[in-house]
Amino acid sequence: MTRMWIGGRWTTAASRQTFPVDNPATEQILDRVPRADGRDADRAVAAAAEAFRTWRGVSGLERASLMHQFAARLRARHTAIARQVTLEGGKPYIENLDEVEWCAAVFDYYGEIARDQAGKVLAPVFPHQVNFVRKEPYGVVVCIVPWNYPLLLLSWKLAPALAAGNAVVIKPSEETPLSTLMLAEDLAIFGRGVVNIVTGFGSEVGEPLVTHKETSLVAFTGSIATGKRIAEAAAPHLKKLNLELGGNDPFIVCDDVDVDVAAKGAAWAAFLNMGQVCTSGERFYVFESVYERFVKKFVSIARGLRLGNPLGPDIDCGPLIRESHRAQIERKIEDAVAQGAKILCGGRRPPRLKKGFFFEPTVLVNVSQSMSLMRSETFGPIAPIVPVSGIEEAVRLADDSEYGLGANIYTNRLEWAMYAMENIHAGTFWINDPLTDNDAGPFGGMRMSGMGRELGIEGLDAFREPKHVHMDWRVEAKPYWYPYRWKGVPAPPAPPRKRRTP
Ligand code: NAD
Repeated sequence: MTRMWIGGRWTTAASRQTFPVDNPATEQILDRVPRADGRDADRAVAAAAEAFRTWRGVSGLERASLMHQFAARLRARHTAIARQVTLEGGKPYIENLDEVEWCAAVFDYYGEIARDQAGKVLAPVFPHQVNFVRKEPYGVVVCIVPWNYPLLLLSWKLAPALAAGNAVVIKPSEETPLSTLMLAEDLAIFGRGVVNIVTGFGSEVGEPLVTHKETSLVAFTGSIATGKRIAEAAAPHLKKLNLELGGNDPFIVCDDVDVDVAAKGAAWAAFLNMGQVCTSGERFYVFESVYERFVKKFVSIARGLRLGNPLGPDIDCGPLIRESHRAQIERKIEDAVAQGAKILCGGRRPPRLKKGFFFEPTVLVNVSQSMSLMRSETFGPIAPIVPVSGIEEAVRLADDSEYGLGANIYTNRLEWAMYAMENIHAGTFWINDPLTDNDAGPFGGMRMSGMGRELGIEGLDAFREPKHVHMDWRVEAKPYWYPYRWKGVPAPPAPPRKRRTP
């Protein structure tokens, strides 16, 4: 059993219970971890609150140095960590190497700006006054993370939270806690109790963290359903929330581009990590004039993707995360087919892979906008393709959604790209380069895809709140009850005196 990490020590759950962590490629149990509950949440929050008293006073310079040191430690162990992410999450090892490096880069990025703790100085009302705004940490913040990019999505929270001076309690996904626990001893460089990791289920330990009176902010990435539950639980406490939720991203292909290039980009957006990416392309709108060519190329790429053990060198896709997720995807496909959709490739479990939650990359046509796979997030390797008459129809259908996480377009025509960008709700809009992120740019969702932003300076501001300080360096009596006269503004006429009745 691997224990969890509270107050700089390895520990079991108060209940002494554990739960298994599976390998989705083999269906074998990898390890067991503590099944934490509210009592463990209390311990972790107490340890973080205690550590915060010291950590908040550590200079930005020192924080920056620690963050760079942590990034170096991640890089030094990147193969072992990537292997663990692969074993428990099923994403190909090569992509997990990239995830660990990206995670280190995020710590370096926030290390660079950690020194800039200053807010701003305002023009004073009078010359003998100073007005400034400083940015303060919240205190104890809770980071709740999903399984699809367990370390990257943690780094988007943890790095800015630490850079801002907060102490942290991490709740990794119950599917992928082992890779997060691997970081525990390296995280100890920030100080005992500054970062704590509790393992367990959302309803058992996640919610007690959300409602705990000493946690000030919850940074959450996960599904819309869980995001709503967290918002409901947080509401009575008016707790600050940053919610990164699901997506159902549209992908437009215009007829002025090299169709083969666009099809490769589209296949990457659809099938990367088996479509288990919040910004996966989930709905493809292709100009009629290039539709047949695009579909042919797209299907040939999908058929050529190699499925298998994600630790193997010659594979493109691993398994889905769990059996229930695979069954849910199958139901969506059956539902679409029952309504007239046609499967061009995939749509089944690969016959040669008997163990593991594998599923073939699937391309569907004859789909309509009302089908459930067009209206709600699938989070799987399913690509429905729809022909459109031109840019207006493409943009209208693309924006016809409750979601607003990301959107893509392939075109060389600036006016089409800008028209789509202006008229589609999306926190990130990609033109000719799907799913590429820049750590200095904000990431997040519009509409139901979330509230708040991660990455960039916005991602740092999410973890600190402004305090406006007004100071007068002359101690003098002021006629506070006559502010008009004091500020040089004529006072309103005095109210007429009441006449005394003789
Ligand atoms: P999930 O919502 O089931 O779980 C996410 C985390 O929340 C887990 O750690 C879980 O234990 C915890 N949790 C569950 N119930 C809770 C509760 N009541 N209180 C507190 N915590 C609770 O999501 P998942 O299946 O792990 O991840 C897939 C989802 O995440 C997809 O919808 C995907 O789009 C979304 N996602 C969004 C982004 C983004 O940046 N917007 C990135 C990746 C994934």
